[in-house]
Amino acid sequence: MPKGNVVTPRLPDPRSGLVLDTRDVSRRAGVLKEVTRVAEAPVDLGIDVIGVPPGSPIEFDLRLESVVEGVLVTGTAKVQLQGNCGRCLEPISSSEVVDLQELFCYPGKELDDEEASRIENDLIDLEPVLRDAVVLDLPFTPLCRPDCAGLCPLCGANLNKQPDHGHDEAIDPRWASLTGWADPESDSKNKE
Ligand SMILES: [Zn+2]
Ligand SMILES: [Zn+2]
Repeated sequence: MPKGNVVTPRLPDPRSGLVLDTRDVSRRAGVLKEVTRVAEAPVDLGIDVIGVPPGSPIEFDLRLESVVEGVLVTGTAKVQLQGNCGRCLEPISSSEVVDLQELFCYPGKELDDEEASRIENDLIDLEPVLRDAVVLDLPFTPLCRPDCAGLCPLCGANLNKQPDHGHDEAIDPRWASLTGWADPESDSKNKE
């Protein structure tokens, strides 16, 4: 394989709110540090139908713990969500608390795992971990409410706003015969 294709991981940017300095806890096993901070959401955090608006505040509540292999980060991130209901397409906005847990390894202690998160220049980058946690937590079909009635399949009217909406006269003739078949009274009338 040509060596030029080897992708070097991008180094954490110490100015990013998603990057933590581990110098206070690293190299001394058993040291604990609580970190609470608000950072701006990166772009493209989410899936097509719902996601975290770029630049919106993410509230981190984290615990950094020094272990033999590196620094263990556990805690939560509270993110804002915006998207559209999968049934009625109305805009949705809510917030979600996702759990974070990741071991960031010291250089040279990668545990034989290519995918292991690493400490680079005493810094750890929360972004990939946050990304995984948020995307895993998002519903494939977000709903404005669990019992959303959706849209009328014939005209697209929002059935949440018009619960009595209907198209009585528009029953397809192919189905009308089935309707009669299911009803003995109308069946006998048809025979007369
Ligand atoms: Zn809806
Ligand atoms: Zn309709």
